[in-house]
Formats: sequence, structure tokens, C-alpha cells
Amino acid sequence: MTTDRMLKFVGTAKRMPTKRPPEERARDFGEIYAEFDAGRAQQQAGRCSQCGVPFCQVHCPLSNNIPDWLMLTAEGRLEEAYEVASATNNFPEICGRICPQDRLCEGNCVIEKGFESVTIGSVEKFITENAFANGWVKPVVPPHERAESVAVIGGGPAGLAAAEQLRKRGYQVHVYDRYDRMGGLMIYGIPNFKLEKDVVVRRSDLLAAGGVAYHPNTEIGGSVTLEQIRARHDAVLIATGVYKARDIMCPGVGLDGIYPALDYLTASNRKGLGDAVPSFDDGTLDAAGKRVVVIGGGDTAMDCVRTAIRQGAASVTCLYRRDRANMPGSQREVANAEDEGVDFQWLSAPEAFLGDRRVTGVRCHRMRLGVPDATGRQTPQAVEDSSYTLDCDMAITALGFDPEDLPAMFGAKELTVSRWGTLRIDFRSMMTSLDGVFAAGDIVRGASLVVWAVRDGRDAADRIHDYLAAKAGADRNAA
Ligand code: FAD
Ligand code: SF4
Ligand code: SF4
Repeated sequence: MTTDRMLKFVGTAKRMPTKRPPEERARDFGEIYAEFDAGRAQQQAGRCSQCGVPFCQVHCPLSNNIPDWLMLTAEGRLEEAYEVASATNNFPEICGRICPQDRLCEGNCVIEKGFESVTIGSVEKFITENAFANGWVKPVVPPHERAESVAVIGGGPAGLAAAEQLRKRGYQVHVYDRYDRMGGLMIYGIPNFKLEKDVVVRRSDLLAAGGVAYHPNTEIGGSVTLEQIRARHDAVLIATGVYKARDIMCPGVGLDGIYPALDYLTASNRKGLGDAVPSFDDGTLDAAGKRVVVIGGGDTAMDCVRTAIRQGAASVTCLYRRDRANMPGSQREVANAEDEGVDFQWLSAPEAFLGDRRVTGVRCHRMRLGVPDATGRQTPQAVEDSSYTLDCDMAITALGFDPEDLPAMFGAKELTVSRWGTLRIDFRSMMTSLDGVFAAGDIVRGASLVVWAVRDGRDAADRIHDYLAAKAGADRNAA
């Protein structure tokens, strides 16, 4: 039932949490948004009009019960708000920070025309941060332990969400990751100014406290084979993400000074975590003092340009072959990058990298948008005689990611993949072509979002439980 604390959108304007000024935030890697205090969260949550059919919820990949936790927040019932918010999301404070809300929940908030959407993500972040501060967020305590064990290959959001859900049911859960820390791209891809690393570490520590066993520095397909993992555990979840950088085809691409985005971002994130990073420490992957050109228009490109600004680049230019309205990255992140001093060259693409041994410039040409292709997107076409040159000491390519060749990597030819190289699963059981081996996250969807990885991880945990329960039933009947 709607209380008199709701429907305040007419009298209360939309307010985001305070954003640090660009000149201040460009000097460090701290998050750029402050947090709501309880009063502001309560006030902003009260703007919700408690729709009968909440389109915000429909467009949240986790179907979060947004109207209910907004109402509970508006009423100051914050522990209950946390219970509701955490019932459908393993990492609400992370999604509240980094979901592209303008394309998901907030972008579909149907508050009356002329009024701006409810600040759903910021309230979600507040609810969970407040719950941590009050000690309401506790490690999992399963109602009973089960003997069966499940291996999760990959400790990113898909793997960790599945691990927590399986642990809730009492399974013995082992997460194997080739990296030294858990969190996947939340640790080594997404920069600190969007998601501070202690927020991710706090979650992975909580899972460990709830009994999830971690095996870092363990590459499946390297020192340990998939077959060995299958022999050790009753079920396996593959949640290895997608990491093969898409190549750029143009002359000069082999020159020194041209780097794939993830190498650059991982070095920066490791540096922020206090690691020794030879390729950064010797100046190779440090943008300080350099004229940087980033190629691409997605969120990864936005993270690169904004990292380069913070490292003290002399200039940062972003080249994107379509226009602003057609870029895949979040508009909010583009606006943040512009405020921080990034120069966007829309409708521009590289023609050649220039230089003898090292890159010294990028020859670009202007593009126009032609007729739509089969997907409905207008195809960019080069404009004749439109070449121009940008000076450049460091170029970063951010053109997206494809899956590695997993069947070859795992030595498992029977593992079937789609024509894009993503793992094929049965969409009902989420099982791959190998019995008892499931898959979730980017390795199934292709490069996507944390919130979708959490959704997939939760679904996979349910399907693994169905599989193990059916197997236990069959074993009992056979005995
Ligand atoms: P990952 O997070 O990639 O985790 C996979 C894990 O598997 C890794 O830890 C890896 O080490 C491990 N692994 C891989 N192979 C093996 C192996 N053979 N053996 C053992 N372990 C292995 N999404 C958002 O929602 N918001 C954002 O702002 C955002 N920004 C992004 C910025 C960048 C730069 C990038 C690259 C991505 C961004 N994303 C963002 C996308 C998001 O990070 C991914 O969609 C999400 O992390 C996918 O989760 P996952 O668990 O499937 O895979
Ligand atoms: Fe919005 Fe993401 Fe939270 Fe869903 S999980 S409510 S899409 S911020
Ligand atoms: Fe509230 Fe907007 Fe969701 Fe409607 S769509 S329930 S107004 S947040």
C-alpha cells in the first residue's frame, strides 16, 4: 500500500549524490560520486510513484523489487529495505555503482513526463552501504551442509554469485581462478573511479567467511585440466568471461606504443592495488605526459580515456566511427569523460598508425553513417579526401572482446561453441555439451554487464541444484 511518504516527484526534484568537480577527480582514482545520507536517500526514494506495473523492475535484469525497497527506504525501514534489495541481488552495492542505469531501471522509470526518473541506483547503493555500516550484512550460514561439491571456474561476478547461491543451499563450493585475486573484471578491468576495489574485496571476503573455498593462481587448462576438475567435483560451472581483444586492421598496427585496452587497464588497476607492475613502472603502460589516442566508443574506451586523464596524459582523444547518439557506451560516462577534459572525435576512424618504430601519429578519416545493415544500425562509411593526422605517443585499442578458444584451452573438443566462440548451453538446464558442466556470464552471452553476470550466476546455481538433486534421487532409487 502506498504511504503518504511516496509520490513526491512533483514537489521534490531529482538529485544525484554529490559529484566531485572534474578538476579534483581528475587528480586521483577515488570514486566520483559521494553517497546519499539517510535523509537524502529517504527524500529521493519518496519520489517513486509506486507504479502498478513497475517498468523499472521489468528492465532490471535481476527483476529487483525496486518499488518495495524504495518505499521501505522512504519510511526509514532500512533493515527491511536491505532484506528486500539483497533477496534478488548478490552485489547490490556494486550494481548500484556501475549498472548503466540510464539504459536499464532508471531509463525506464515511468514517472510523469516532465519529471526526471527516480535515482534508483544511488538508493540501492545507499541501502547496502548502510547495511554494511550497521553490521546487517552477514556471511552465509547454510541450514545444513551437503556432501556434494561444485567447482566454479572463474571468480568474476557470474562465478561469485553462483558460489554464494550454491553455498546458501549447503554445497561445498570451490572457486578456481587464474588470477591472484577474486572478482574478475570487477578487480582488473573496471577502474577504481567507478568501483573502488575494497568494495569488491569486502564481498569476496564475505563469501570466504561463509565457507566458499578459493583457489587463486589456478588456470584450468594450464596446471590443472578440466578432466581433473570434473573428477574432483560433482558439478562444474564455467564462468571464465571473454578476454581476447578484437584486432584493428590498418597499416602500422605493429608499431611500439599501441596497446590493447585491457593490458592498459589491468596495469593501472594493479598499480592502484599496490602491486609491482614492471610494464607500468618502466613507463610503458603509464600515460603520464603522453598524447594519448583511444580507439573505440564503448565503456572500455571510456574507462581508458578517463584513466589516461588521471595518469596525467598531455592530451586524450577518443576516436569513434559513429556519432554520439549511436555509441555503445553509457551517455553518463561520456559526459563524465568530457567534463574531465577528453576530446571526442565523433565520426572518425583510424586509417594508419604513423611512425618508424614507435607510434608518433594516427592518420584518421572522417566517416558518415550510411544505410542501415541487417541489425538496423547505420553502417559507417569513410568520407573521401577527409584525412587528418593526430599526434600520438600512445594509442589504445578498445574494440571489444571475443572468447578465447575454450575447447582447445581446456583440451575438451566435445565442448560445443557458437559461431562467435561463446559456450553453447541448453537454455533450460544451462548445461554445456558435457554432462554436469554448466556455464554462465560473458562466456555464454559475449561481453555484457556485471548485472547480467549476476543474473546468470544465480540461474546457474538453481540449475546445478536441480541437476544434483535429480542425481541424488536417481542414486537413492538405484541403491
Ligand atoms: P569476468 O568478470 O571476466 O570473470 C571471469 C574470471 O574467470 C576472471 O577472474 C578470469 O581470471 C577467470 N578465468 C578465465 N579463464 C580462466 C581459466 N582458464 N582458469 C581459471 N580462471 C579463469 N559492466 C558493468 O555492468 N558496468 C560497467 O561499468 C562495466 N565496465 C567495464 C569496463 C571494462 C574495462 C570491461 C572490460 C568490462 C566492463 N563491464 C562493465 C563488463 C563486466 O565487467 C563483465 O560483463 C562481467 O565482469 C562479466 O562477468 P563474468 O563473471 O562472466 O566474467
Ligand atoms: Fe538498476 Fe542495476 Fe540495480 Fe537493477 S541491479 S535496479 S538495473 S542499478
Ligand atoms: Fe517508482 Fe519509477 Fe519504478 Fe514507477 S518506474 S515504480 S515511479 S521507480
